[in-house]
Amino acid sequence: MQRKYIPLAVFFVALLLLLAHLGARMTAVPAFTFAAEQKRIFLTFDDGPSTVVTGQVLDVLRDEGVKATFFVVGDRVGGREEVLRRIAREGHTVGVHSQTHVYREIYASDEAFLRDVSACAETVRKVTGVTPRVYRFPGGLGNSRRTALLREQGYRVVGWNAVCGDEEIAGADAETLLKTSLSTARGKDTVVLLLHDSAHRRATAEALPSIIRSFREAGYEFCAF
Ligand SMILES: [Zn+2]
Repeated sequence: MQRKYIPLAVFFVALLLLLAHLGARMTAVPAFTFAAEQKRIFLTFDDGPSTVVTGQVLDVLRDEGVKATFFVVGDRVGGREEVLRRIAREGHTVGVHSQTHVYREIYASDEAFLRDVSACAETVRKVTGVTPRVYRFPGGLGNSRRTALLREQGYRVVGWNAVCGDEEIAGADAETLLKTSLSTARGKDTVVLLLHDSAHRRATAEALPSIIRSFREAGYEFCAF
């Protein structure tokens, strides 16, 4: 190449690099927009473990390839250690709900509250070897002081913004639970769905496959805390 053409060549190379850069940016924009719009659902199960229902829920989650979060009651673990171990072993998150689930004891004082939290955490740790890091208030009876106490202990406090209705609607069947899940989650890009896996929630386990498929069809990604 003649010397006088070198600046011209440098100019064209720079131009090509600039265009490639802009092109990359243009293709990156839709990808970023997609990530921002990704809809997510967290399935959260309270009040277990139970022998039959938790097992059914775990079977469905395994078959559907979905991870969930279980807020357990420490006093219900005795005799069901293997169920709790299965929750942890299959990659779900185990969180603290309470040791006793007896509101007047749990919320009697700050000391009683923290004692309840650490008793449940200790039960989980002893059985699974995992130290729980997420917490859900029994009865949703949180306040800012209790939340601050939990944060000092390193917990992330998890509420909910949609329900399946297994607690709210007496005797709800699987179809009602599906409809309630969809109607209470409507319009929300991030859904934290409240479900229960305690012993009498057979309809919840029965509704779970259709709940998972409906949210999947609506474009939701399943997440655990
Ligand atoms: Zn509860």
